[in-house]
Amino acid sequence: MKGLHLAGIYKDFGSVRAVENIKLDFAEGELTALLGPSGCGKTTLLRMIAGLEMPSGGSILLGEDNITALAAHKRRFGMVFQNFALFPHLSVRENVVYSLVIAGTSKSDAIDTGERLLDLVQLSGYGDRRIGELSGGQRQRVAIARALAQEPEVFLLDEPMSALDAKLREDMQVELRLLQQRLGITTIVVTHDQREAMTMADKIVVMSQGRVEQVGPPQQIYHRPENAFVADFIGKANFFDGVVEAGKVRVGQSLLELKTPAEFISGSPVQIACRPETPYLDSDGIAGSRLKASVTFVRDVGPVRDIHLQTEIGPMIVEYARGETERSFTVGQETIVTLPVEGLHVFPRNERAAA
Ligand code: ATP
Repeated sequence: MKGLHLAGIYKDFGSVRAVENIKLDFAEGELTALLGPSGCGKTTLLRMIAGLEMPSGGSILLGEDNITALAAHKRRFGMVFQNFALFPHLSVRENVVYSLVIAGTSKSDAIDTGERLLDLVQLSGYGDRRIGELSGGQRQRVAIARALAQEPEVFLLDEPMSALDAKLREDMQVELRLLQQRLGITTIVVTHDQREAMTMADKIVVMSQGRVEQVGPPQQIYHRPENAFVADFIGKANFFDGVVEAGKVRVGQSLLELKTPAEFISGSPVQIACRPETPYLDSDGIAGSRLKASVTFVRDVGPVRDIHLQTEIGPMIVEYARGETERSFTVGQETIVTLPVEGLHVFPRNERAAA
């Protein structure tokens, strides 16, 4: 297995720059998720890595080798697409070993490899079935087995779960991740689903409008978003507009205490983001900004309740975990919400909003 390195690749379609100057490393054996809203350039980036799309500039290195101009079929990259692209007239086994047979592998070797791969994706005994006789999840496993048949150096998946229903999708995410870890294969998954990215990835690349917004492990992206786009796109957040005032931030009549980075000088317009699970309701002894609030709506979704509030600084949603307390909240109730210093993220206000 080898790592991949993208050195400033970009792609223009006519006058549209679909992907802008991407510099990224995909470490050997790691699973990286390319995550972003529709049209942000994820698929175009994956297709360039696969050799299906020629970059307009920049280069792609596999280990030490520059593969930018290498044809797709010479890259030994396994690919799984959204629709799986299986051959309906062939059996499951024939689908899996198709590429090996085309490459001249003997029939008995191909059958052995086919059985081993079907076993790997938990489809032993399904080799003689037609594709039409399989469920969506089983088809996806066939597509994965087929992609692994050539012992690829890099495994590329474009929205591999999108044809599956929600429950199966979650199961397959775990299954695929365990398989990838067992094989230790460098893998890149395109997805617009942040839960999918967070479930599977060692590293997430958040993209928007052809650019990389942030790269890091899932928890770092969630807890330390580098800009308002990432804070908004990954997880949920309450946003407030404010102005820096002597190390604090003024929002309306209130002064919020937070860790203001040194570059924010007094008078800078900023945007504050606060994850819904970070504020406290009616809790004494918590360091932070205390705001008067009243309950406007309670959304009870089982393990957590979303308490909608009208606060001194505007509307806010606070997620209240069921285990914390059984206390009740009713519409119109007055409360005090505390925003802990550590729970507030501050960004310059001129940034683009989430797409
Ligand atoms: P989705 O999640 O909807 O598949 P994406 O993030 O994968 O979106 P891309 O398919 O890479 O986005 O598209 C990025 C941009 O490039 C879009 O503005 C798209 O319209 C444009 N684009 C993609 N392929 C082509 C093409 N062959 N010709 C012209 N424009 C294209």
